[in-house]
Amino acid sequence: MTNGLTVGNGHLLTGGIDTVELAEQYGTPLYVMDEDMIRQACREFKTSIDECYGRGMVCYATKAFCCKEMCRIMNDEGIGLDTVSGGEIYTALSAGFPAERIVFTSNNKKDEEIAFAIDNGVGRITCDNIEELYRISDIAVKKGRTVRVMLRLKPGVEAHTFEAVMTGQIDSKFGFAIETGEALKAAKKVAVLPGIDLAGVHCHIGSQIHDIAPFEKAAEVMFEFIAKLRDEGITIKDLSLGGGFGIKYTDKDVPVPYGDYMKRVSARVRECCDRFGLEMPFIMIEPGRSIAAPAGITLYTVGSRKTIPGIRTYIGIDGGMPDNPRYALYKSEYTAVVANKADEPKSETVTIAGRTCESGDLIGENMPLQHAEAGDIVAILATGAYNYSMASHYNRVPNAAVVMVRDGKSRVVVRRETFEDMCVNDL
Ligand SMILES: *Cc1c(COP(=O)(O)O)cnc(C)c1O
Repeated sequence: MTNGLTVGNGHLLTGGIDTVELAEQYGTPLYVMDEDMIRQACREFKTSIDECYGRGMVCYATKAFCCKEMCRIMNDEGIGLDTVSGGEIYTALSAGFPAERIVFTSNNKKDEEIAFAIDNGVGRITCDNIEELYRISDIAVKKGRTVRVMLRLKPGVEAHTFEAVMTGQIDSKFGFAIETGEALKAAKKVAVLPGIDLAGVHCHIGSQIHDIAPFEKAAEVMFEFIAKLRDEGITIKDLSLGGGFGIKYTDKDVPVPYGDYMKRVSARVRECCDRFGLEMPFIMIEPGRSIAAPAGITLYTVGSRKTIPGIRTYIGIDGGMPDNPRYALYKSEYTAVVANKADEPKSETVTIAGRTCESGDLIGENMPLQHAEAGDIVAILATGAYNYSMASHYNRVPNAAVVMVRDGKSRVVVRRETFEDMCVNDL
């Protein structure tokens, strides 16, 4: 089986641990992450950066899955963090993560978040728009500080992925457009604004991308722009090429090995440096999904089975949209396994339905699955990214716990919320 999963005694195992026992021990719904897989992915990216560029930094995109323990693991692996909010920065700092390896990237930062980042010595801020540029400058000047800034650019590259997760094209809410001249104007502005050191440029073309070509194209567009800035007397030292590497959710996904991506993109980067007579910048990449998603599974207990003759069978589980809103958001497909019948054939095609009061609260439709009945444990695979981090309290359902497994042991890294937690801010 994929994703570090195996089968033993008819049960699904993750990191060698019986998932049915995990469900019994910790309750369901339960997120389970295989720590070795997370670390392995970090090392693969880090090694590629070292081999392909020599200088650079892998910045894990914390929005994929953020909690203190995850930040500690990233710190332990010596990589950086690409954060999108004061809350993520706070989490990282609380976990003892060094501020200089944190990048703050989002499309609308609040003044207090910018101030918080500057006060705490966050290494780089990626600026999204002209108003923000002035605000960062003002806040930095008031604090007597100089901030290392990157400009988020839209390279105008359309990657083949879901529309909701495409970000590099001109009609996107993220960043400055290169083709309209907006980006050049902004760069000239920063070069003279006080409190800001225009150190770099940044792009992120989308997510769950299975091709290398759009990344190569984006890199090339970025270098054309860096060369144009050089001609204007502006030196760019940092280049972030973003994240977006695809992973396998179902057999339809054929991900590119990350090493192949790194080799081809770095070859294009070197060729661009030669062509434009530029020095190799400090290269950053920002993988999120590819570090967290494959390592995670979610365990649920089946509560009901409803067959509507000639139409479909609903398998009702004790979680759903509150812990995994991705099917409701994007119709994202997943692979499901009955954890206590993992060696049986997937003899049925079912709809897995969540527990909240929304017909759209589904984990998936037309999913092949073993025959499932009340009391069975269903595992949904590759849920390590954009599940816990997108969780909501809809219907006042407390958030599920997160457990990590490693070396044959399991431990809670985020405890399960209680009913009291639901009311903690209620007056
Ligand atoms: C979301 C995001 C990432 C991570 O994307 P993945 O698809 O999870 O790898 C990286 N950089 C930026 C700026 C992002 O918005």
